[in-house]
Amino acid sequence: MAGTIWVVAETNADGSLAKISTEIATLARSLAEASGTTAAGIVVAPDPGPAAGELATYLPRVVTVAEPLAGDHAWAQLAAQRAAAILASETPGAVLTGAGPDGRDVAGTLLALLERGVLYNAIAVSWDAERGSPAVEMGVFGGRLITVSAFADGEWGIVTIRPNVVTAEATASAGSVEAASSAGELSLPAVKVVDRVEEAAGAVPIEDARVIVAGGRGVASEAGFGLLQELADALGGAVGATRAAVDAGWIPYAQQIGQTGKIVKPQLYLAMGISGAIQHKVGMQTSGTIVAVNRDPDAPIGEFADLLVVGDLADVGKALLEELGRR
Ligand SMILES: Cc1cc2nc3c(=O)[nH]c(=O)nc-3n(C[C@H](O)[C@H](O)[C@H](O)COP(=O)(O)OP(=O)(O)OC[C@H]3O[C@@H](n4cnc5c(N)ncnc54)[C@H](O)[C@@H]3O)c2cc1C
Repeated sequence: MAGTIWVVAETNADGSLAKISTEIATLARSLAEASGTTAAGIVVAPDPGPAAGELATYLPRVVTVAEPLAGDHAWAQLAAQRAAAILASETPGAVLTGAGPDGRDVAGTLLALLERGVLYNAIAVSWDAERGSPAVEMGVFGGRLITVSAFADGEWGIVTIRPNVVTAEATASAGSVEAASSAGELSLPAVKVVDRVEEAAGAVPIEDARVIVAGGRGVASEAGFGLLQELADALGGAVGATRAAVDAGWIPYAQQIGQTGKIVKPQLYLAMGISGAIQHKVGMQTSGTIVAVNRDPDAPIGEFADLLVVGDLADVGKALLEELGRR
């Protein structure tokens, strides 16, 4: 039987559980089920209680470490050391972290402390029963290839998971929360956080948006994105883009959706002047409802959109904005 599937959870600034960790915990549970084992989580924070309570609605067992230094020191290195101490006395089947900046730092530090391999930026993970390892799907060489990798026979390792590749689902019965028996000494120097800088205004985090109005080459200019922003505001959403629009300098890279951009999963994805190339599709295909506006009735996006509106995006966009205003 494989060992426990562990999750190193991240918290938000207010101490609540990060969305990425709810997704990873859901994935850990499904891997545990497939491998006939169990899943567990680790929360390291100045006050781990609130996030641990939330994580226990996803996992049968949560271990906490109250780490006062995490308040004003770089969290990931502290979390990795605390997690490594817990994992040293356990038999893991795999350890999962987020693929964001903090999750990556946790994975890198765990790699060094536990001398284990890392499979990074997973876009899908299943259980390979034959190998007794997670089978990890990743985009490599700048997204040119998709590979599936597993750990060597008998080995376990760390997997970082991209946001929005799993839909978070809590369980009916909450799991147990326990404090780690002994936190022990920190072997690495704690890194003091000297300043925090807010992300530039306008760069709305598209990963969490319920509605995304995305534009492609058809938008034709930076000014053209003004209409998309108005639509996004009217719908309470965020603006996204294809790589073609980002490369043209019309919108920042932070808004790029796709294989070499972000993976998003809004309830509504409004694609304006986007052809639907595979590298864009992989970043948005799991959206709830996909509505595309394209002047080409044969645009490939029509093959997977729920609705294709054939027309000029400026005309359709303005008409939609007027209609939204009326409502
Ligand atoms: C390794 C690699 C990684 C990549 N990663 C990404 C990625 O992360 N994200 C990404 O998006 N792409 C990525 N790409 C690029 C991808 O292959 C496509 O080139 C890109 O998605 C195309 O963007 P587009 O749909 O905006 O442009 P086009 O393919 O040029 O499509 C423009 C569409 O707009 C329509 N149109 C034009 N004018 C109007 C108008 N006035 N009204 C209505 N419709 C109009 C056209 O009919 C057309 O369908 C990657 C490519 C490679 C090789």
